[in-house]
Amino acid sequence: MSKRRRVIAANWKMYKTPEHAREFIASLLPAASGHERDEIVLCPPFTCIPAVVDALKGTGIFVGGQNMHWENEGAYTGEISAPMLVAGGCSHVIIGHSERRQYFGETDDTVNLKLRSALAAGLKPIVCVGEVIQEREAGLTEDVLRRQCSVAFREISGGEAIPMAIAYEPVWAIGTGKTATPEMASAAHEIIRSEAEEVFGIGVAGQMRILYGGSVKPENVKALMAQPEIDGALVGGASLDPKSFAAIVKYQV
Ligand code: PEP
Repeated sequence: MSKRRRVIAANWKMYKTPEHAREFIASLLPAASGHERDEIVLCPPFTCIPAVVDALKGTGIFVGGQNMHWENEGAYTGEISAPMLVAGGCSHVIIGHSERRQYFGETDDTVNLKLRSALAAGLKPIVCVGEVIQEREAGLTEDVLRRQCSVAFREISGGEAIPMAIAYEPVWAIGTGKTATPEMASAAHEIIRSEAEEVFGIGVAGQMRILYGGSVKPENVKALMAQPEIDGALVGGASLDPKSFAAIVKYQV
């Protein structure tokens, strides 16, 4: 079992209006009693952030953005910056999700720019890395993870890196119902931590949380969380329903 405080983060993607978000929280809170054990984060669409921040006041549950621009402000139509997320009540932000890389042209370099900007603004980033199925089948998983992490970590000092969490999200497991086995996830997490050790040193890397994401559900969360290298979960589809997200939050190991 992990010795770090686990993070369970909900990625709602492009789902829910403010009204739906309020309804979700009203049913989540009684169902997820005991949630204080871990760091629970809801990452709604930008338009729901004010409603979610308001509904979660005093609950100890955190709010995160799903994306951000690396500049603090400027002529970037449609973008949101790290200071804007902070001003809106966010404490966390997801960076470099595979859907952003796949559909919106994000690269390892833009992930690095965003990560540095998020840390400078005092946000806790959740940086997503992971291989596509062709890379796994070609035996390239380690190379891909090391490349994604080493570029993401550029020009970040050990002192700055501690609040950062990494989410290992094998792309072939996202939204597909296929989950990496706990052993596969654990092996990938060890690679990520060893890359973090090379860049930041053992002390800092040992404090960084490495989450697993990819079809996490109430049925498989327990086996995943029993792995000492798995420090939490980033949950997409199963976070949209308050009962299933509450069941994930309440996993017992
Ligand atoms: C995600 O989008 O980060 C994710 C892990 O999605 P899902 O749980 O639906 O696979």
